[in-house]
Amino acid sequence: MLNLILLGPPGAGKGTQAKLVQDKYKIVQLSIGDMLRAEVAAGSELGRQAKQIMDAGALVSDDLIVKMITSRIAKPDCKNGFIFDGFPRTIPQAEALDTMLKDSGIKIDHVVEMRVDDEAMVSRITGRYTCAKCGAGYHDTLQAPKAGGICDKCGGREFTRRADDNAETVRTRLKAYHAHIAPIAGYYAKNGVLKGVDGMAPIPEVTRQIAAILG
Ligand code: ADP
Ligand code: ZN
Repeated sequence: MLNLILLGPPGAGKGTQAKLVQDKYKIVQLSIGDMLRAEVAAGSELGRQAKQIMDAGALVSDDLIVKMITSRIAKPDCKNGFIFDGFPRTIPQAEALDTMLKDSGIKIDHVVEMRVDDEAMVSRITGRYTCAKCGAGYHDTLQAPKAGGICDKCGGREFTRRADDNAETVRTRLKAYHAHIAPIAGYYAKNGVLKGVDGMAPIPEVTRQIAAILG
């Protein structure tokens, strides 16, 4: 089993790298944002609460997130391991995660911190979009599909953009990230599982650095 956490500000490339790691190691990418957006799309009560908070660029409660994750990692598709993308963001979340994992007899093997330059993140985020059918990630200029308007992976022609991927919300999210990340990085550094990669490098180079850590 290989359990991994990717840390980095919005736009750092967590989603991009998580998808590559997922395919290579047959483990499942768990994005809190995706789980929450699924709840929003389903129109659940939890989804409606989460939507208000996310639209404002703020963070949903630890309690709500840990509940959602507990049931998610118990599903059979997580048996080879999982990648958390952008979670945990607070010390109480990290502690709750540890407690929950200990109860299930599993542990986090590596925490990979993607180090990037904040200013570059605004253009990365405002230009990104995903295939509506298969979820493949693209960017207007940094990572466009090979044939204009057609998904490389599935041939889909419809794409979606996240409502909160605008410059103003990105700046709020970057601020929230920095306020929370230093203690989280410290928490995992203490456990000896924290490793850094250069998130400003081209996508394949970042993938190589992550593969070197995972072995
Ligand atoms: P995150 O999940 O950390 O918010 P994404 O993986 O969605 O970030 O990446 C944000 C955007 O930047 C995407 O459009 C992606 O194609 C692009 N991107 C990701 N990694 C890199 C990189 N190393 N260099 C250039 N662009 C990148
Ligand atoms: Zn697709």
